[in-house]
Amino acid sequence: MHGLMQNHPLLISSMIDFAERHHGEGEIVSRRVEGDIHRSNYKTLAARSRQVAHALDGLGLEFSSRVATLAWNGYRHLELYFGVSGTGRVLHTLNPRLHPEQIAWIANHAEDSVLCFDLSFLPIVKAIHSRCTTIRHYVALCDADKLPADSGIPGLLSYEAWMGAQPTAYVWPIFDENSASSMCYTSGTTGNPKAALYSHRSTLLHALAGALPDALSMSARDAVLPVVPMFHVNAWGLPYSAAMTGAKLVFPGPAMDGKSIFELIEAEKVTFAAGVPTVWQMMLGHMQAGGLRFSTLKRTVIGGSACPPAMITAFNDTYGVEVLHAWGMTEMSPLGTVCTLKNKHLELEPQDKLRVRLKQGRGIFGVDMKIVDPEGQELPWDGKAFGDLLVRGPWIISAYFKGEGGSPLVDGWFPTGDVATIDPDGYMQITDRSKDVIKSGGEWISSIDVENIAMAHPAVAMAACIGMKHPKWDERPIIAVVKKPGSTVSRDELIAFYDGKTAKWQIPDDVVFLEAIPLGGTGKMQKTKLREVLKDYTLPGL
Ligand code: AMP
Repeated sequence: MHGLMQNHPLLISSMIDFAERHHGEGEIVSRRVEGDIHRSNYKTLAARSRQVAHALDGLGLEFSSRVATLAWNGYRHLELYFGVSGTGRVLHTLNPRLHPEQIAWIANHAEDSVLCFDLSFLPIVKAIHSRCTTIRHYVALCDADKLPADSGIPGLLSYEAWMGAQPTAYVWPIFDENSASSMCYTSGTTGNPKAALYSHRSTLLHALAGALPDALSMSARDAVLPVVPMFHVNAWGLPYSAAMTGAKLVFPGPAMDGKSIFELIEAEKVTFAAGVPTVWQMMLGHMQAGGLRFSTLKRTVIGGSACPPAMITAFNDTYGVEVLHAWGMTEMSPLGTVCTLKNKHLELEPQDKLRVRLKQGRGIFGVDMKIVDPEGQELPWDGKAFGDLLVRGPWIISAYFKGEGGSPLVDGWFPTGDVATIDPDGYMQITDRSKDVIKSGGEWISSIDVENIAMAHPAVAMAACIGMKHPKWDERPIIAVVKKPGSTVSRDELIAFYDGKTAKWQIPDDVVFLEAIPLGGTGKMQKTKLREVLKDYTLPGL
């Protein structure tokens, strides 16, 4: 017997409709590329998203066409979030921090039809547009009078002229909630980047669960600052959860330095902020140097890589801001766990409480987790046993875009590549990363890419890249190299060899020459052993 309730599809357009009707005056404040502060609200956002919808229809784009963005966090990017997905097209947020070669490869792989970009990314677009074979329309996110005359991009449109001329009335189409809504590429450990393709249903359910009190606890009384970029897994779903709750949104634009972020938090009375540890490190440094205090910030969600204990202590003890340590992945939309305390933890001594807060947290509703041994046997939730972490749920990937890499699932579970413990209260803690990707400033650096470039040097016999702890960037890559017999290459020559072959921040900080790199039984490099060999190593300048 079926239930007798109405069967409305879970569509992204419903969130913007809701925000407009119930929170029309809810503010959306953006620091723009131009440097000024722009003020909007949900009513205007909804109207302009509908203008975007008309403008996209005008380009004759089919359902599921990919509309790419190269943009900072701001109101125009948000309009595209709703305008693109609301019409059944797929928002593809490109990561401008990648090397232009990679961006072009990804845009071609996704078969993007349109690229909307902030003017600060014009040099990237100029560099790649002749290689982007599927993009038919380029839209600069600016007023008509800011459009550069000599852009070199044929038919370049001004966003404001393009969408501003459209009517604000539009009826969002109704379609299957399992239709794709947005996509995000993740640079895995092997091979080319792969895309997670989110659906309307997965996005809406993820935003709903993310807003719950024991997750990110969002409400109309909050002013939310997503420092996490909108090109990183949809800014952890915050734009959607905000529309769903009517929370004020504050966008930092390109100004991610400690001073700018602090000033924005104070000026806009931000209560809740979200970002990777690197960003908070810069902000805390700025505050400590100037003896500054927060007047409104209550909590901050920190994730993307492990949050250092000193950061949790600084926020909690010095500034009275609750840290929510969170864990997730591109393949998980991204929220998996959030570390919110239970009643029993409130009585704990500060040191014991910190031990709980350091964990990545408990699974939010909708995310099922387990840890397994190398044979796939489930391990106990005792806080001691550690094993491969697997997850499943309605916003967790079932396959990569275009079926790349075959099915990633094992008996219906997605292997995260992380190694973790889970305690009897359900708090998961990452103990290691089974993959060797290096996390620098919240961005991935593929150790294999770094190694491949070194291996292309004629004097290099073998190269292994590992991440070394760095106080500001979390990790920085170094490359351990074995030279070919009789060949010579210096540290500086090898570093210079990377110029032009990869993005600057992906170039290793140092080269260590070794007689041999530890190998395992099957001839694979053993990076854990390599770390032991380099245990006394410190990065240059530290
Ligand atoms: P991404 O797909 O770029 O979001 O990266 C996902 C990976 O980042 C996870 O598999 C973890 O290895 C790592 N990660 C994310 N959040 C945390 C965290 N709070 N602590 C430790 N590692 C994390």
